[in-house]
Amino acid sequence: MGRLIVFEGIDGSGKTTQVKLMIDRLEKENVRFRRLNFPRYDEPSSALLRMYLGGEFGDKPEDVNAYAASTFFAVDRYASYKKDWQADYLAGTPILTDRYTTSNAIHQGSKLPEDRREAFFKWLYDFEFGLMELPAPDVVIYMDIPLEAALARIGQRRTETGAGADIHERDAEYLRACWQCGRQAADYYGWRKIPCFDGGRARTAEEIHEEIRQVLKLE
Ligand code: ADP
Repeated sequence: MGRLIVFEGIDGSGKTTQVKLMIDRLEKENVRFRRLNFPRYDEPSSALLRMYLGGEFGDKPEDVNAYAASTFFAVDRYASYKKDWQADYLAGTPILTDRYTTSNAIHQGSKLPEDRREAFFKWLYDFEFGLMELPAPDVVIYMDIPLEAALARIGQRRTETGAGADIHERDAEYLRACWQCGRQAADYYGWRKIPCFDGGRARTAEEIHEEIRQVLKLE
């Protein structure tokens, strides 16, 4: 079986940046790997999550409860696994992904009060990895960033790209809850937390990359 490595964190935490640096490195070293991307907005299996993120079920993330919304994303992952990467995974190819089931823990768990989140975390992993039989991650790299820094980076990226925000991104209170829930999920599941700041100083993308390389070598 392959090694499933997940890069996770709230929006603006630097997941995409780190996946890219890791891919560049693996390509230079001629290591065979697969890179996945979730959600898969261009695929029919993402229809429900597109309706949800587009606001068709309500303008606010809370208009769809954590469990219902989680199934939309799980279905897309299932289709991706069956059609795209099951064979590679079973053949032992390392798989890198930016977001996975772990994203539901953060973005859906955040809709629940703190004392109901652990029951949700347990259900989520049982549902996708137990009942649906999707592969569980071998390592989850959790980008641990101060909320204010993530908000600033999201704002800057939006100015640069001119991209419109979906219902998750529009709501600063929701992002705050995701930040808090992400840390709770990281502790509950034992994800590897990677600090993005050193005291008040932002660590460079390269510094963080080196730390992630060390972690992946050891685990
Ligand atoms: P995510 O995929 O988690 O939303 P990104 O990788 O897109 O995050 O990063 C969000 C923004 O922050 C991007 O504009 C990116 O260039 C910038 N960024 C990422 N890592 C760092 C870093 N270590 N220091 C400063 N800026 C960063």
